[in-house]
Amino acid sequence: MGHLGRLKGEYRDLVERLDAGQVGLPEPRDERAREARREILEILFSPEDAAIASRLPVRPARLETIAERTGLPPRELETHLEDLAARGIVFDIEHPGSGAKYYLLAPPVVGFFEFSLMRTTDELPRKRLAEAFEAYFHGDETFARELFGAETVIGRTLVHETALDDEMPEVLDWERVSRAVEESEHFAVGLCFCRHKAEHLDRRCEAPMEICLSLNGGARFIAERGFGRAIERREAVDLLTRAREQGLVHISDNVRREPSWICNCCACCCEQIQAINEFDLPAVTPSGFVARPEMESCKGCSRCARACPVGAITMHPRRVEARVKGSLSPEVKGERCIGCGVCAVACRQHAMRMERRAERPYVPENTMERSLRMALERGRLAHLIFDQGAGRGSRFLNRMVQALCRMPVADRVLASEQLRSRFIRRALDSMGSA
Ligand code: SF4
Ligand code: SF4
Ligand code: SF4
Repeated sequence: MGHLGRLKGEYRDLVERLDAGQVGLPEPRDERAREARREILEILFSPEDAAIASRLPVRPARLETIAERTGLPPRELETHLEDLAARGIVFDIEHPGSGAKYYLLAPPVVGFFEFSLMRTTDELPRKRLAEAFEAYFHGDETFARELFGAETVIGRTLVHETALDDEMPEVLDWERVSRAVEESEHFAVGLCFCRHKAEHLDRRCEAPMEICLSLNGGARFIAERGFGRAIERREAVDLLTRAREQGLVHISDNVRREPSWICNCCACCCEQIQAINEFDLPAVTPSGFVARPEMESCKGCSRCARACPVGAITMHPRRVEARVKGSLSPEVKGERCIGCGVCAVACRQHAMRMERRAERPYVPENTMERSLRMALERGRLAHLIFDQGAGRGSRFLNRMVQALCRMPVADRVLASEQLRSRFIRRALDSMGSA
Protein backbone atom coordinates (compact mmCIF):
# COMPACT_ATOMS: atom_id res chain seq x y z
CA MET A 1 0.00 0.00 0.00
CA GLY A 2 2.87 2.38 0.81
CA HIS A 3 3.58 3.16 -2.86
CA LEU A 4 0.01 4.31 -3.62
CA GLY A 5 0.51 7.79 -2.19
CA ARG A 6 3.86 8.28 -3.92
CA LEU A 7 3.88 11.18 -6.39
CA LYS A 8 5.29 11.03 -9.89
CA GLY A 9 7.93 13.61 -10.91
CA GLU A 10 5.66 16.34 -12.33
CA TYR A 11 3.38 16.14 -9.33
CA ARG A 12 6.28 16.30 -6.88
CA ASP A 13 7.42 19.51 -8.60
CA LEU A 14 3.88 20.86 -8.45
CA VAL A 15 3.61 20.14 -4.72
CA GLU A 16 6.97 21.82 -4.18
CA ARG A 17 5.73 24.88 -6.05
CA LEU A 18 2.43 24.95 -4.13
CA ASP A 19 4.33 24.62 -0.86
CA ALA A 20 6.08 27.90 -1.68
CA GLY A 21 2.72 29.70 -1.79
CA GLN A 22 0.46 30.74 1.05
CA VAL A 23 -1.32 27.34 1.18
CA GLY A 24 0.58 24.19 0.28
CA LEU A 25 -0.28 20.51 0.02
CA PRO A 26 1.73 18.84 2.79
CA GLU A 27 2.15 15.11 2.92
CA PRO A 28 -0.10 13.52 5.55
CA ARG A 29 1.01 10.72 7.87
CA ASP A 30 -2.17 8.74 7.24
CA GLU A 31 -1.79 6.23 4.39
CA ARG A 32 -5.23 6.79 2.85
CA ALA A 33 -4.85 10.59 3.11
CA ARG A 34 -1.52 10.37 1.24
CA GLU A 35 -3.12 8.29 -1.47
CA ALA A 36 -6.01 10.78 -1.62
CA ARG A 37 -3.61 13.70 -2.16
CA ARG A 38 -2.09 11.87 -5.13
CA GLU A 39 -5.55 11.07 -6.51
CA ILE A 40 -6.72 14.70 -6.24
CA LEU A 41 -3.65 15.96 -8.08
CA GLU A 42 -3.94 13.35 -10.83
CA ILE A 43 -7.65 14.07 -11.34
CA LEU A 44 -7.25 17.85 -11.49
CA PHE A 45 -3.91 18.09 -13.35
CA SER A 46 -2.67 16.15 -16.35
CA PRO A 47 1.13 15.59 -16.20
CA GLU A 48 1.47 18.43 -18.73
CA ASP A 49 -0.72 20.77 -16.61
CA ALA A 50 1.38 19.90 -13.57
CA ALA A 51 4.64 20.61 -15.43
CA ILE A 52 3.41 24.08 -16.48
CA ALA A 53 1.79 24.92 -13.13
CA SER A 54 4.96 23.97 -11.25
CA ARG A 55 6.89 26.60 -13.27
CA LEU A 56 4.50 29.47 -12.53
CA PRO A 57 6.03 32.15 -10.29
CA VAL A 58 4.63 32.69 -6.80
CA ARG A 59 3.62 36.22 -7.78
CA PRO A 60 1.38 37.15 -10.73
CA ALA A 61 3.40 37.06 -13.95
CA ARG A 62 3.06 38.06 -17.62
CA LEU A 63 2.84 35.52 -20.42
CA GLU A 64 6.37 36.37 -21.65
CA THR A 65 7.87 35.73 -18.20
CA ILE A 66 6.16 32.38 -17.93
CA ALA A 67 7.18 31.50 -21.49
CA GLU A 68 10.81 32.09 -20.50
CA ARG A 69 10.47 29.87 -17.46
CA THR A 70 8.69 27.04 -19.20
CA GLY A 71 10.53 27.25 -22.52
CA LEU A 72 7.17 27.07 -24.33
CA PRO A 73 6.31 29.37 -27.28
CA PRO A 74 3.99 32.16 -26.00
CA ARG A 75 1.08 31.20 -28.30
CA GLU A 76 1.09 27.57 -27.21
CA LEU A 77 1.53 28.58 -23.57
CA GLU A 78 -1.37 31.04 -23.75
CA THR A 79 -3.70 28.26 -24.92
CA HIS A 80 -2.62 26.13 -21.94
CA LEU A 81 -2.98 28.98 -19.47
CA GLU A 82 -6.44 29.88 -20.74
CA ASP A 83 -7.48 26.25 -20.37
CA LEU A 84 -6.09 26.19 -16.80
CA ALA A 85 -7.97 29.43 -16.04
CA ALA A 86 -11.19 27.94 -17.41
CA ARG A 87 -10.74 25.10 -14.87
CA GLY A 88 -9.93 27.43 -11.94
CA ILE A 89 -6.31 26.27 -11.66
CA VAL A 90 -4.92 29.62 -12.76
CA PHE A 91 -6.30 33.10 -12.08
CA ASP A 92 -6.04 35.64 -14.88
CA ILE A 93 -5.73 39.14 -13.51
CA GLU A 94 -5.95 42.42 -15.39
CA HIS A 95 -3.59 45.17 -14.28
CA PRO A 96 -5.87 48.05 -13.19
CA GLY A 97 -3.68 50.69 -14.86
CA SER A 98 -2.24 49.17 -18.02
CA GLY A 99 -4.88 46.50 -18.64
CA ALA A 100 -2.04 43.96 -19.11
CA LYS A 101 -2.87 40.38 -18.30
CA TYR A 102 -1.12 38.50 -15.50
CA TYR A 103 -1.43 34.85 -14.53
CA LEU A 104 -1.25 33.41 -11.04
CA LEU A 105 -1.40 29.78 -9.95
CA ALA A 106 -4.48 29.40 -7.74
CA PRO A 107 -3.81 27.98 -4.28
CA PRO A 108 -5.67 24.77 -3.36
CA VAL A 109 -7.84 26.82 -0.94
CA VAL A 110 -9.50 29.23 -1.68
CA GLY A 111 -8.81 28.04 -5.20
CA PHE A 112 -8.76 24.95 -7.36
CA PHE A 113 -10.15 22.61 -4.69
CA GLU A 114 -13.35 24.65 -4.43
CA PHE A 115 -13.62 25.35 -8.16
CA SER A 116 -13.53 21.64 -8.89
CA LEU A 117 -16.90 21.19 -7.16
CA MET A 118 -18.54 24.48 -8.10
CA ARG A 119 -19.59 23.30 -11.55
CA THR A 120 -21.72 20.38 -12.53
CA THR A 121 -21.22 20.57 -16.26
CA ASP A 122 -17.69 19.32 -16.82
CA GLU A 123 -16.40 15.76 -16.90
CA LEU A 124 -14.68 15.54 -13.53
CA PRO A 125 -15.33 12.34 -11.54
CA ARG A 126 -16.97 14.25 -8.68
CA LYS A 127 -17.75 11.34 -6.39
CA ARG A 128 -14.16 10.11 -6.50
CA LEU A 129 -12.94 13.64 -5.96
CA ALA A 130 -15.29 14.16 -3.01
CA GLU A 131 -14.08 10.92 -1.40
CA ALA A 132 -10.46 11.92 -1.97
CA PHE A 133 -11.04 15.40 -0.48
CA GLU A 134 -12.68 13.81 2.55
CA ALA A 135 -9.76 11.43 3.05
CA TYR A 136 -7.12 14.15 2.58
CA PHE A 137 -8.87 16.70 4.84
CA HIS A 138 -9.84 14.30 7.61
CA GLY A 139 -7.43 11.31 7.45
CA ASP A 140 -5.28 13.23 9.87
CA GLU A 141 -4.87 16.89 10.78
CA THR A 142 -1.94 17.65 8.39
CA PHE A 143 -3.88 19.68 5.81
CA ALA A 144 -6.08 21.34 8.45
CA ARG A 145 -2.88 22.48 10.21
CA GLU A 146 -1.52 23.83 6.93
CA LEU A 147 -4.65 25.94 6.50
CA PHE A 148 -5.50 26.83 10.06
CA GLY A 149 -2.44 26.17 12.20
CA ALA A 150 -1.03 29.72 12.18
CA GLU A 151 -2.43 33.01 13.46
CA THR A 152 -3.58 34.39 10.12
CA VAL A 153 -6.23 32.29 8.43
CA ILE A 154 -8.24 32.76 5.25
CA GLY A 155 -11.66 33.44 6.80
CA ARG A 156 -13.22 35.63 9.45
CA THR A 157 -16.66 35.54 10.99
CA LEU A 158 -19.08 38.36 10.25
CA VAL A 159 -21.61 38.75 13.03
CA HIS A 160 -25.32 38.58 12.14
CA GLU A 161 -26.20 42.25 12.29
CA THR A 162 -29.71 41.56 13.55
CA ALA A 163 -28.07 40.09 16.66
CA LEU A 164 -26.55 43.46 17.53
CA ASP A 165 -28.34 46.00 19.70
CA ASP A 166 -29.27 49.20 17.92
CA GLU A 167 -27.46 51.21 20.52
CA MET A 168 -24.28 49.12 20.28
CA PRO A 169 -21.55 51.74 19.99
CA GLU A 170 -18.94 51.70 17.32
CA VAL A 171 -19.72 48.81 14.99
CA LEU A 172 -17.12 49.39 12.32
CA ASP A 173 -18.01 49.37 8.64
CA TRP A 174 -15.77 46.39 7.86
CA GLU A 175 -17.53 44.40 10.59
CA ARG A 176 -20.86 44.69 8.78
CA VAL A 177 -21.90 42.21 6.12
CA SER A 178 -24.39 44.79 4.83
CA ARG A 179 -21.58 47.27 4.22
CA ALA A 180 -19.52 44.70 2.31
CA VAL A 181 -22.49 44.30 -0.04
CA GLU A 182 -23.21 48.05 -0.28
CA GLU A 183 -19.60 48.78 -1.20
CA SER A 184 -19.34 46.07 -3.86
CA GLU A 185 -20.22 46.52 -7.50
CA HIS A 186 -20.21 42.98 -8.85
CA PHE A 187 -21.85 39.90 -7.35
CA ALA A 188 -21.96 36.23 -8.25
CA VAL A 189 -23.36 33.17 -6.55
CA GLY A 190 -21.90 29.68 -6.82
CA LEU A 191 -22.36 26.20 -5.42
CA CYS A 192 -21.14 25.50 -1.92
CA PHE A 193 -18.06 23.27 -2.25
CA CYS A 194 -18.50 21.73 1.20
CA ARG A 195 -22.18 20.79 0.72
CA HIS A 196 -21.56 19.58 -2.81
CA LYS A 197 -18.82 17.34 -1.45
CA ALA A 198 -21.18 16.13 1.33
CA GLU A 199 -23.83 15.36 -1.29
CA HIS A 200 -21.43 13.00 -3.08
CA LEU A 201 -20.72 11.33 0.27
CA ASP A 202 -24.50 10.85 0.75
CA ARG A 203 -24.76 13.14 3.76
CA ARG A 204 -25.99 16.44 2.39
CA CYS A 205 -27.80 18.73 4.83
CA GLU A 206 -30.87 20.93 4.27
CA ALA A 207 -28.97 24.19 3.82
CA PRO A 208 -29.08 25.69 0.31
CA MET A 209 -26.43 24.57 -2.15
CA GLU A 210 -26.27 27.72 -4.28
CA ILE A 211 -25.21 30.18 -1.59
CA CYS A 212 -21.51 31.05 -1.91
CA LEU A 213 -21.38 34.75 -2.61
CA SER A 214 -18.48 36.32 -4.51
CA LEU A 215 -17.85 40.04 -4.73
CA ASN A 216 -16.17 42.37 -7.23
CA GLY A 217 -13.09 40.81 -8.94
CA GLY A 218 -13.92 37.40 -7.44
CA ALA A 219 -17.48 37.69 -8.78
CA ARG A 220 -16.28 38.59 -12.25
CA PHE A 221 -13.94 35.58 -12.35
CA ILE A 222 -16.67 33.22 -11.05
CA ALA A 223 -19.27 34.44 -13.57
CA GLU A 224 -16.99 34.76 -16.60
CA ARG A 225 -15.46 31.32 -16.08
CA GLY A 226 -18.80 29.64 -15.43
CA PHE A 227 -18.21 28.68 -11.77
CA GLY A 228 -21.39 30.49 -10.80
CA ARG A 229 -23.79 33.13 -12.12
CA ALA A 230 -23.73 36.90 -11.93
CA ILE A 231 -26.48 38.32 -9.72
CA GLU A 232 -27.77 41.77 -8.78
CA ARG A 233 -27.16 43.40 -5.42
CA ARG A 234 -30.81 42.75 -4.45
CA GLU A 235 -30.35 39.00 -4.86
CA ALA A 236 -27.12 39.12 -2.86
CA VAL A 237 -28.98 40.83 0.00
CA ASP A 238 -31.81 38.25 -0.17
CA LEU A 239 -29.32 35.41 -0.17
CA LEU A 240 -27.65 36.72 3.00
CA THR A 241 -31.03 37.21 4.70
CA ARG A 242 -32.00 33.63 3.83
CA ALA A 243 -28.67 32.39 5.20
CA ARG A 244 -29.23 34.24 8.47
CA GLU A 245 -32.77 32.91 8.81
CA GLN A 246 -31.46 29.38 8.35
CA GLY A 247 -28.90 29.82 11.12
CA LEU A 248 -25.90 29.76 8.78
CA VAL A 249 -22.66 31.49 9.72
CA HIS A 250 -21.33 34.31 7.54
CA ILE A 251 -17.63 33.68 6.98
CA SER A 252 -15.84 36.10 4.67
CA ASP A 253 -12.41 36.80 3.29
CA ASN A 254 -10.18 37.70 6.24
CA VAL A 255 -9.57 41.31 5.13
CA ARG A 256 -11.02 44.67 6.12
CA ARG A 257 -11.07 46.18 2.64
CA GLU A 258 -12.67 44.67 -0.47
CA PRO A 259 -13.46 41.12 0.62
CA SER A 260 -13.94 38.92 -2.44
CA TRP A 261 -16.25 36.27 -0.95
CA ILE A 262 -18.81 35.69 1.79
CA CYS A 263 -19.61 32.05 2.61
CA ASN A 264 -22.73 30.97 4.47
CA CYS A 265 -21.75 27.95 6.46
CA CYS A 266 -23.30 25.12 8.38
CA ALA A 267 -21.54 23.18 11.15
CA CYS A 268 -22.20 19.83 9.49
CA CYS A 269 -20.50 20.45 6.12
CA CYS A 270 -18.22 23.48 6.41
CA GLU A 271 -14.54 22.50 6.39
CA GLN A 272 -13.59 25.61 8.36
CA ILE A 273 -16.06 24.92 11.14
CA GLN A 274 -15.18 21.22 11.10
CA ALA A 275 -11.51 22.09 11.66
CA ILE A 276 -12.58 23.89 14.84
CA ASN A 277 -14.77 21.03 16.03
CA GLU A 278 -12.65 18.10 14.88
CA PHE A 279 -9.08 19.34 15.35
CA ASP A 280 -9.62 22.16 17.82
CA LEU A 281 -7.87 24.62 15.50
CA PRO A 282 -8.62 28.38 15.39
CA ALA A 283 -9.76 28.00 11.78
CA VAL A 284 -11.72 31.26 11.57
CA THR A 285 -10.84 34.67 12.97
CA PRO A 286 -13.72 35.50 15.35
CA SER A 287 -15.76 38.65 14.88
CA GLY A 288 -15.20 41.44 17.39
CA PHE A 289 -18.25 40.23 19.36
CA VAL A 290 -18.95 37.49 21.85
CA ALA A 291 -22.24 36.02 23.05
CA ARG A 292 -23.44 36.64 26.61
CA PRO A 293 -26.68 35.27 28.10
CA GLU A 294 -28.92 37.50 30.24
CA MET A 295 -30.11 35.23 32.98
CA GLU A 296 -33.14 37.38 33.96
CA SER A 297 -34.90 36.68 30.67
CA CYS A 298 -33.42 33.23 29.86
CA LYS A 299 -35.92 30.34 30.00
CA GLY A 300 -33.28 27.62 29.81
CA CYS A 301 -34.68 26.19 26.55
CA SER A 302 -31.23 25.27 25.09
CA ARG A 303 -32.06 26.57 21.61
CA CYS A 304 -28.89 28.67 21.66
CA ALA A 305 -26.70 25.69 22.56
CA ARG A 306 -28.24 23.56 19.80
CA ALA A 307 -27.76 26.37 17.26
CA CYS A 308 -24.13 27.14 18.11
CA PRO A 309 -21.94 25.74 15.30
CA VAL A 310 -18.84 25.28 17.44
CA GLY A 311 -20.22 23.96 20.72
CA ALA A 312 -19.32 27.12 22.61
CA ILE A 313 -22.46 26.98 24.81
CA THR A 314 -22.87 24.51 27.66
CA MET A 315 -26.16 24.20 29.51
CA HIS A 316 -25.78 23.85 33.29
CA PRO A 317 -28.47 22.84 35.79
CA ARG A 318 -29.63 25.68 38.05
CA ARG A 319 -32.07 26.02 40.90
CA VAL A 320 -34.95 28.42 40.34
CA GLU A 321 -36.40 30.00 43.42
CA ALA A 322 -39.98 28.97 44.28
CA ARG A 323 -39.94 26.17 41.68
CA VAL A 324 -39.77 22.49 42.49
CA LYS A 325 -38.06 21.59 39.25
CA GLY A 326 -34.75 23.18 38.39
CA SER A 327 -33.88 24.67 35.04
CA LEU A 328 -30.91 24.97 32.74
CA SER A 329 -28.75 27.99 32.14
CA PRO A 330 -26.32 28.60 29.27
CA GLU A 331 -22.65 29.31 29.73
CA VAL A 332 -20.66 30.69 26.78
CA LYS A 333 -16.98 29.78 26.48
CA GLY A 334 -15.63 33.09 25.22
CA GLU A 335 -12.40 31.65 23.84
CA ARG A 336 -14.33 29.16 21.67
CA CYS A 337 -17.09 31.55 20.52
CA ILE A 338 -16.47 32.80 16.97
CA GLY A 339 -18.89 35.71 17.42
CA CYS A 340 -21.33 34.69 14.68
CA GLY A 341 -24.54 35.73 16.50
CA VAL A 342 -26.39 32.56 15.40
CA CYS A 343 -27.35 31.82 19.04
CA ALA A 344 -28.72 35.35 19.55
CA VAL A 345 -30.89 35.06 16.44
CA ALA A 346 -32.10 31.61 17.60
CA CYS A 347 -33.13 32.81 21.08
CA ARG A 348 -36.83 33.68 21.17
CA GLN A 349 -36.53 35.44 24.53
CA HIS A 350 -33.89 37.90 23.31
CA ALA A 351 -31.86 36.63 26.22
CA MET A 352 -28.65 35.97 24.30
CA ARG A 353 -26.87 39.22 23.54
CA MET A 354 -23.81 39.99 21.51
CA GLU A 355 -21.34 42.28 23.20
CA ARG A 356 -17.95 43.67 22.35
CA ARG A 357 -15.10 41.23 22.84
CA ALA A 358 -12.52 42.62 25.31
CA GLU A 359 -9.84 42.47 22.63
CA ARG A 360 -10.86 42.84 18.99
CA PRO A 361 -9.17 40.12 16.85
CA TYR A 362 -6.75 41.45 14.28
CA VAL A 363 -7.97 41.50 10.68
CA PRO A 364 -5.49 42.30 7.87
CA GLU A 365 -6.20 45.46 5.90
CA ASN A 366 -6.26 43.82 2.46
CA THR A 367 -5.37 40.70 0.52
CA MET A 368 -1.79 41.81 0.20
CA GLU A 369 -1.32 42.11 3.95
CA ARG A 370 -3.06 38.79 4.57
CA SER A 371 -0.86 37.00 2.02
CA LEU A 372 2.20 38.59 3.55
CA ARG A 373 1.22 37.54 7.06
CA MET A 374 0.35 34.02 5.98
CA ALA A 375 3.69 33.70 4.18
CA LEU A 376 5.55 35.15 7.15
CA GLU A 377 3.92 32.90 9.74
CA ARG A 378 4.51 29.83 7.57
CA GLY A 379 8.19 30.70 6.96
CA ARG A 380 7.61 31.40 3.23
CA LEU A 381 8.18 35.12 2.98
CA ALA A 382 11.41 34.73 1.02
CA HIS A 383 9.56 32.77 -1.69
CA LEU A 384 7.14 35.65 -2.08
CA ILE A 385 9.75 38.40 -2.15
CA PHE A 386 12.49 36.68 -4.16
CA ASP A 387 10.15 34.96 -6.55
CA GLN A 388 12.43 34.11 -9.47
CA GLY A 389 11.50 35.71 -12.73
CA ALA A 390 8.43 37.60 -11.54
CA GLY A 391 10.13 40.94 -12.10
CA ARG A 392 11.57 43.09 -9.31
CA GLY A 393 10.42 46.66 -8.72
CA SER A 394 6.91 45.74 -9.68
CA ARG A 395 3.79 47.37 -8.26
CA PHE A 396 3.23 44.09 -6.42
CA LEU A 397 6.62 44.30 -4.73
CA ASN A 398 6.12 47.94 -3.73
CA ARG A 399 2.76 47.21 -2.16
CA MET A 400 4.24 44.25 -0.33
CA VAL A 401 7.09 46.32 1.11
CA GLN A 402 4.62 49.01 2.20
CA ALA A 403 2.51 46.38 3.96
CA LEU A 404 5.66 45.02 5.64
CA CYS A 405 6.58 48.45 6.94
CA ARG A 406 3.14 48.83 8.55
CA MET A 407 3.55 45.63 10.57
CA PRO A 408 4.32 45.60 14.29
CA VAL A 409 7.99 45.43 15.27
CA ALA A 410 7.90 41.73 16.26
CA ASP A 411 6.56 40.77 12.83
CA ARG A 412 9.14 42.92 11.07
CA VAL A 413 11.92 41.23 13.05
CA LEU A 414 10.58 37.81 12.02
CA ALA A 415 10.39 39.04 8.41
CA SER A 416 13.94 40.30 8.46
CA GLU A 417 15.13 36.95 9.87
CA GLN A 418 13.45 35.05 7.04
CA LEU A 419 14.82 37.42 4.44
CA ARG A 420 18.31 37.60 5.93
CA SER A 421 18.74 33.85 5.95
CA ARG A 422 17.79 33.82 2.27
CA PHE A 423 20.35 36.56 1.54
CA ILE A 424 23.01 34.55 3.30
CA ARG A 425 22.14 31.37 1.41
CA ARG A 426 22.27 33.24 -1.88
CA ALA A 427 25.60 34.80 -0.99
CA LEU A 428 27.01 31.37 -0.09
CA ASP A 429 25.65 29.88 -3.31
CA SER A 430 27.26 32.58 -5.41
CA MET A 431 30.57 32.12 -3.56
CA GLY A 432 30.39 28.39 -4.23
CA SER A 433 29.87 28.92 -7.94
CA ALA A 434 32.60 31.59 -8.23
S1 SF4 B 1 -17.03 27.51 3.57
FE1 SF4 B 1 -19.27 27.44 3.97
S2 SF4 B 1 -20.43 28.28 2.23
FE2 SF4 B 1 -18.22 28.08 1.70
S3 SF4 B 1 -18.16 26.23 0.61
FE3 SF4 B 1 -17.82 25.61 2.77
S4 SF4 B 1 -19.83 25.39 3.83
FE4 SF4 B 1 -20.11 26.24 1.77
S1 SF4 C 1 -32.10 30.25 23.64
FE1 SF4 C 1 -32.38 32.02 24.95
S2 SF4 C 1 -33.85 31.40 26.44
FE2 SF4 C 1 -33.14 29.54 25.50
S3 SF4 C 1 -31.40 28.89 26.83
FE3 SF4 C 1 -30.54 30.14 25.24
S4 SF4 C 1 -30.47 32.19 26.09
FE4 SF4 C 1 -31.88 31.01 27.34
S1 SF4 D 1 -21.89 31.17 21.23
FE1 SF4 D 1 -21.82 29.97 19.35
S2 SF4 D 1 -23.57 30.66 18.15
FE2 SF4 D 1 -23.25 32.15 19.76
S3 SF4 D 1 -22.00 33.73 18.80
FE3 SF4 D 1 -20.62 32.31 19.83
S4 SF4 D 1 -20.07 30.82 18.25
FE4 SF4 D 1 -21.87 31.91 17.50
